[in-house]
Amino acid sequence: TLSDRLADTFKNLRGKGRLSEADIDATAREIRIALLEADVALPVVKEFVAAVKDRARGEEVSGALNPAQQIVKIVNEELVTILGGETRRLRYAKSGPTVILLAGLQGAGKTTLAAKLALWLKEQGKAPVLVAADLQRPNAVNQLQINGERAGVPVFAPEPGNGVGDPVAVARASIDEAKRKLYDVVIVDTAGRLGVDAELMQQAADIRDAVQPDEVLFVVDAMIGQDAVTTAQAFLEGVGFDGVVLTKLDGDARGGAALSIRSVTGKPVMFASAGEKLTDFDLFHPDRMAGRILDMGDMLTLIEQAEKTFDHEQALKAAEKLTGKGDFTLDDFLQQMQQVRKLGSMSKIMGMLPGMGQFRDQLENFDEREIDRIQAIIQSMTPAERDDPKIIDGSRRQRIARGSGRTVTDVNQLVDRFFEARKMMMQFAQGGGMPSLPGMPG
Ligand code: GDP
Ligand code: MG
Repeated sequence: TLSDRLADTFKNLRGKGRLSEADIDATAREIRIALLEADVALPVVKEFVAAVKDRARGEEVSGALNPAQQIVKIVNEELVTILGGETRRLRYAKSGPTVILLAGLQGAGKTTLAAKLALWLKEQGKAPVLVAADLQRPNAVNQLQINGERAGVPVFAPEPGNGVGDPVAVARASIDEAKRKLYDVVIVDTAGRLGVDAELMQQAADIRDAVQPDEVLFVVDAMIGQDAVTTAQAFLEGVGFDGVVLTKLDGDARGGAALSIRSVTGKPVMFASAGEKLTDFDLFHPDRMAGRILDMGDMLTLIEQAEKTFDHEQALKAAEKLTGKGDFTLDDFLQQMQQVRKLGSMSKIMGMLPGMGQFRDQLENFDEREIDRIQAIIQSMTPAERDDPKIIDGSRRQRIARGSGRTVTDVNQLVDRFFEARKMMMQFAQGGGMPSLPGMPG
C-alpha cells in the first residue's frame, strides 16, 4: 500500500525541520504510482501530485507524526478536498414533485440504483415513484417493476395512455401522474447503450427537456476505471448532469474513477452503491473514498490517534528527563500512565505498528481502573515524596494508604513498580532499547 511504501521511503529520515527536495520527489513518485494503480486518469494524477508537492514543501515536519505519516495526512486532506469535501445533498423542488433523471451506459446500474434511491427516500418519509422510461430492452420495464416491488415503491410504466413505445411521452405523463397522486419524488430510469452513442444521448436529452429534472444523476460503474472519464465527459456534453453516482464499489475497484470524474467534470459524487441488495447504498463520503483510493485506512487511524494524544511539551520534558540526570519522579510515572490511557484502544494501535506485537498481551490485560487507584495513592503523597519516594517511611506509608483508601501493600507495590520503571527508563536512556511500558503488569 501507499502507506507502506512511504514508510519505506522515509525509513532513514528522522528528525526536524522541513522535508528535503529529494524526499518530496521520492514521495511524489510513490503517490503517482498509487493513484495510477487506483485507476485515476493521468492528467488528474499530475495535477494532484503537483498540488501535494507544493504543500509538502511549505510544511514543517510535525512533532506528532513521522514524515511518512505527515505526507499521508497531506495527501489525504487534499484528496478529501478534491473529492468534494462535504457530501453534496439532493436538492428538492421548492414546489411540486422533485424530478430526478438517471443517465448512464447500459449495465452501469441505473435500474438497480433507481430502486435503491427510491427505498432510501421512502425511509426518509418521502413518497417516491419510479418511472420506466427505458423502452430499449424488452425486459427493462419488467426489471424496474420487480425492483420497485422489492422496494415497496410504485412504478409508472408504459400502457395505453401513458405513451406506449415512446420514452419521452412516458416520462412526461409520469409528472402529471405524480402531481395527481401526490408523489413527491419522481425517479426516471432511462435506457443506456453499451457505448457512448449519439441517438442515446439525444433520447436522454429529450426526456430531460420533457421532465425538467431538478437533478440529473450520471450513474457510472466504478469498475470501468479509466474509461469513466471519457464517458462522463460525453454525458456532460450530451445530456448534462448535476451529480454522479458510483456503482459496484463492492468490487475490487479502488475508486480512482471518483477522483477523475470529479476533477474533470467538476460535478460531485453524491451517492455510492456497493452491492446488488437494495440497501447497499449510501451517501458518498469523500473521506472514506480517499482512504480507499490510497488504501491507507490503518495509517489514517494511527495518525488520528497520534495527533489526539500527542503533547509536544510533555514529550520534550520526558526526553529531557531520560537523557538528563535521571530524575524520573512519581509524577512523571503517573503522567506516562495517563498518556497510555489517553491512547484509548492501545492494543489495536500497537497491533498496527511493526514490532509492537510483543506488547499486545500486556495491553490487553491492562486495567484502566488501576490508573485511578495509582493516581489516588500518588496524590496522597507530599511533593517531596513524589520527587523521591525513597524518603517515604513506614508511618508515612500508612498515612498515604489511609488518605487514598488503599492498603499499605498497595502503596508498597506502587513504590516497587515505580523503582522498577525508573530502572528501565534509565536503561532506555542509556541506549538499552525500548523499555517495557511503565506501570504495566508483567
Ligand atoms: P442499467 O443497465 O444501468 O439499468 O444497470 P442495471 O441496474 O440493470 O445493472 C446491471 C447489472 O449490474 C445487474 O446485474 C445488477 O444486478 C448489477 N449491479 C447494479 N449495481 C450493482 C452494485 O452496486 N454492485 C454489484 N455487484 N452489482 C450491481
Ligand atoms: Mg436499466
